[in-house]
Amino acid sequence: MVDTLQEEVGSRRTFAIISHPDAGKTTLTEKLLLFGGAIRDAGTVKARKTGKYATSDWMEIEKQRGISVTSSVMQFDYSGFRVNILDTPGHQDFSEDTYRTLMAVDSAVMIVDSAKGIEDQTIKLFKVCRMRGIPIFTFFNKLDRQGKTPLELLAELEEVLGIESYPMNWPIGMGKDFVGIYDRFHNRIEQFKSEGDERFLPLNEDGELAVPHELKNSPLYEQTLEEIMLLTEAGNQFSEEKIAKGELSPVFFGSALTTFGVQTFLDAYLKFAPAPQPRNATSGEVNPVSNDFSGFIFKIQANMNPKHRDRIAFLRICSGKFERGMSVFLSRTGKPINLSSSTQFLADDRATVNEAVSGDIIGLYDTGNYQIGDTITTSKEMYQFERLPQFTPELFVRVTAKNVMKQKHFHKGIHQLVQEGAIQLFKTVRMEEYLLGAVGQLQFEVFEHRMRNEYNVEVIMERIGSKITRWAEDEKVDESLHSSRSILVKDRYDKYAFLFENEFALRWFNDKNPDVKLYNPMDLR
Ligand code: GDP
Repeated sequence: MVDTLQEEVGSRRTFAIISHPDAGKTTLTEKLLLFGGAIRDAGTVKARKTGKYATSDWMEIEKQRGISVTSSVMQFDYSGFRVNILDTPGHQDFSEDTYRTLMAVDSAVMIVDSAKGIEDQTIKLFKVCRMRGIPIFTFFNKLDRQGKTPLELLAELEEVLGIESYPMNWPIGMGKDFVGIYDRFHNRIEQFKSEGDERFLPLNEDGELAVPHELKNSPLYEQTLEEIMLLTEAGNQFSEEKIAKGELSPVFFGSALTTFGVQTFLDAYLKFAPAPQPRNATSGEVNPVSNDFSGFIFKIQANMNPKHRDRIAFLRICSGKFERGMSVFLSRTGKPINLSSSTQFLADDRATVNEAVSGDIIGLYDTGNYQIGDTITTSKEMYQFERLPQFTPELFVRVTAKNVMKQKHFHKGIHQLVQEGAIQLFKTVRMEEYLLGAVGQLQFEVFEHRMRNEYNVEVIMERIGSKITRWAEDEKVDESLHSSRSILVKDRYDKYAFLFENEFALRWFNDKNPDVKLYNPMDLR
């Protein structure tokens, strides 16, 4: 029994693709699904983006803007593995959901446009992965176009993100001169334009072409050999241990659009990416192959189908085996719950899941039982997994109800949405005004929409712009430190935080008040 569970869990690979919009995440995801022949997916990825699959879109905003507000889950089988890809919104206005999705994966794939290099959104998402110490694999995309040189790109990884890298392959030429990749991992050359047997040329022990080929006389090939020599002598050592800790990123070059280098990437990725690992809980580590079933809710999506007004709680399974109809405890309340309705998402329909194991993600119908971060388990110990971190909001609005007669609905709506994790709530200590904090503009739009549609309240939101949020370590803070450039607020747990106008205001404050210790929950450990 345990053996088969062990095997099943060992075959799971659960990851998210992180990138800046337009780097090629959708294209790469589709190509990966093609290799696997997706068994469950939320509509083809591109169709969703272009809005063809409006039925799976759950809100007007999504339809109007042709984006997916929420992350969904895709699953495919490939080469003995069951792969779960957790999608993150492919839009600039991402939200805390995007971050929380990264709490539910075991590794991340970072896709970078080779011409643009590492962009803002990638940096933010990377930091969250780093905070968790999960393995990060890099895919430099669009090699069929002229971009930055591979050495420049590697340097950027180290300088901008501060992570060591190990190129698993190396391009021969680029753009219109793109010939192929030198595959260090499989010790072969993969030719760009060729198909079938022609595609792969073996290398000998010295890392040179083992067969006679016209490439041998090409200056591009010469240059690649020189660069490979440089990498071997002066580059980082390959280290599985460092990959596992997220300290060294295996790097792949390729072109998702032309499906070049994608399979090479997938094969190597599956080999080195971790299967589900033990997770910390209040009772100690929970082993993924333990017989007790457990998992945590990392996302709650309300009203996916306006006709049903239901909510779906997304559960990452952390141990044991899920079986439909099983009875579990909700650790927060100690209440028993029967898991009779579970769901996975298909384009037009929801398919019912009967069985799933650690690493898999399932959707549970929710009638208001669950909160973000909740643990459910069959264990009588009723342990809880580590609390999901609070993400540092960057954008703020002051919020009030348009109609003062609607105060009751207004408070109810805000508190429920805050509890659900849709947005963060702060109160100014001076005026007791409500401020909402978000990591992306879209969260405000979702909030406004849901307040109107679910709580029947029109809200007024005044922008107060972007701020640098720092929490105070001490429980007590001298409230006279409040100023217009360092707004003193309390969060929903009554913890003090300052909202600084800019970096300068933060530094100035630190200089003036060395005794007030401030922290950013998202600082790299
Ligand atoms: P996303 O926003 O990260 O999901 O990016 P998409 O996958 O939608 O890609 C953005 C654009 O880049 C689209 O026009 C793609 O066709 C294009 N693209 C993606 N991969 C490649 C590639 O390997 N080479 C080239 N030339 N274009 C690509």
